[in-house]
Amino acid sequence: MSNIKVAIRVRPRTISEATLDHQLTVHMGGNNIVHLHNPAISKTSAKYGWNDKRASSQPRQFAFDYCFPATDGSCASANIASQEKVFEDLGMPVLNSLFDGYNACVLAYGQSGTGKTYTMMGTPLEPGLAPKLCAAIFERITSECGCSNVHRPSFRIEISFMEIYNEKVRDLLEEYSNRGSVQLKIREHPQLGPYVQGYRHTVEDAAAALGLLKEGVERRSSAATQNNGHSSRSHAVFTVHCTAAWVTGEGLPRETVAKLHLVDLAGSERASCNPVSRLRLKEGALINKSLASLGNVINALAEKASLSKGSISTLNTSSSSTSSINIPSVQTTPSATPRRSQTPFIPYRDSVLTWLLKDSLGGNSKTFLVAAISPSTRAFKETLNTLRFAERAK
Ligand code: ADP
Ligand code: MG
Repeated sequence: MSNIKVAIRVRPRTISEATLDHQLTVHMGGNNIVHLHNPAISKTSAKYGWNDKRASSQPRQFAFDYCFPATDGSCASANIASQEKVFEDLGMPVLNSLFDGYNACVLAYGQSGTGKTYTMMGTPLEPGLAPKLCAAIFERITSECGCSNVHRPSFRIEISFMEIYNEKVRDLLEEYSNRGSVQLKIREHPQLGPYVQGYRHTVEDAAAALGLLKEGVERRSSAATQNNGHSSRSHAVFTVHCTAAWVTGEGLPRETVAKLHLVDLAGSERASCNPVSRLRLKEGALINKSLASLGNVINALAEKASLSKGSISTLNTSSSSTSSINIPSVQTTPSATPRRSQTPFIPYRDSVLTWLLKDSLGGNSKTFLVAAISPSTRAFKETLNTLRFAERAK
């Protein structure tokens, strides 16, 4: 059992899929089982006596921690899942984790057009996890600061928003031109782990945080317009850094630092066999490499967790923790304990993405992978690939 929780979210059918009455490939039974089958292929295979191994005609079953059926009921489930439901199941635990001083991370994985950005960012009328969390963080701060406890913490919230494209990091909160975009350097702090230098913006309220989120989303999508769908080929990482400082009953100052990464990953679809240019070829290879390395890190963590069977707490070293309360000086966690002395090798350094997320994927961090899928037979193979990727993360 991994500490990574896996959710599947099915998007509703598009107008064309609904009009053409596309066959559906996804059925959800209960809350956490996905059956996948391809009636079209089953029929054709049966008719011609094919044994198409690549696109199995057999229904397949997968079990996940959460299943979010499409709001139009198109994935043959009795339930539907709204943005509110997704926030309740995934947003609230990561919010609690952040305020408990632990790092957290939500990753949206899947083929382009399946709802990753909808889940992470949403739309103005149906906000996704990032805007809902920005609002909820400041609501929580207001309620904690309003309590009468003299040792109540004070909070500092900082935001960063960047994009990883072709293994290079770019700040989505800085003006840039395509030619002059500044490549940010990743450094490693001996205690705090990998970080990108000089890109945090302190925010005092939800409106300021939402303003930065909107600014970054717009900058990313304008790059997409200039560069033919660039956003589906880059990873967007929105990060909230939460520093809590308080004074103990003994008058000692304390501080914990925790961060929340909300990651809208590049589309996971296989690159075309005939890329239109060398740039596309390189892009495709680097996306595959970074998503594969994310898969490898997640698998290694899942294996580590199953090996340790319940002794996770003795192995954890990487994420921020309120354990610093017992240490008599100002602490900036993570790293109150020696770093991963007993942990098996986790290949964080294989890609920029995994290196940056290092502190939020293992240990006591709360991590959710949301795998977004289409309900249509048209996406059968990509959906199967996504479900397999998600299954390996459990
Ligand atoms: P991706 O980021 O994976 O490429 P998008 O989030 O842009 O995909 O989604 C593609 C389209 O489908 C968008 O118009 C989006 O609003 C819509 N969509 C995706 N998921 C849902 C959902 N669960 N409910 C309603 N609309 C959705
Ligand atoms: Mg998107």
